[in-house]
Amino acid sequence: MRRSTTETAGPVETEALAGELARSLGPGDVALIAGELGSGKTTFVRGACRALGVREPVTSPTFTVGQVYAGERAGEALEIAHLDLYRLATLADEEPGVLDDYLTAERIAFVEWPAVGEPAIERVAARVEIAHAGGDLRRIEIA
Ligand code: ADP
Ligand code: MG
Repeated sequence: MRRSTTETAGPVETEALAGELARSLGPGDVALIAGELGSGKTTFVRGACRALGVREPVTSPTFTVGQVYAGERAGEALEIAHLDLYRLATLADEEPGVLDDYLTAERIAFVEWPAVGEPAIERVAARVEIAHAGGDLRRIEIA
């Protein structure tokens, strides 16, 4: 498995790195984004979404498990799913299909706090781990 570690010095660099990853993903691919609160998971997803043509605001879903943005690539419409499983203690408590509502074969998906959903997620194309490295520095590992 290919693995890279990058240190970013601010949100703009994190967004640019995310954009590079996003351009390598295709429909049906899921990227898992792990890291503690405030590490920059949503910032990373925002950068990925911008690179995939999403113009609307990209923020962590608050009252739902996820949201779907309209993006585009090479003039073709492309949907992007953004999930945050932070409040999902177990999947068993939820509708069994809660992830399937968002993760479809046509969409590229980004999942924050992925641990609880990981066993149920097929087609994991990338695992991203973001760690604080002092101040605005973040160490970002992409596998
Ligand atoms: P999370 O989704 O992991 O809780 P957010 O992306 O919502 O994190 O917030 C990260 C915060 O850290 C933002 O306020 C962002 O501006 C700030 N920040 C500072 N340095 C960086 C960096 N190198 N990469 C990403 N975010 C950074
Ligand atoms: Mg977040």
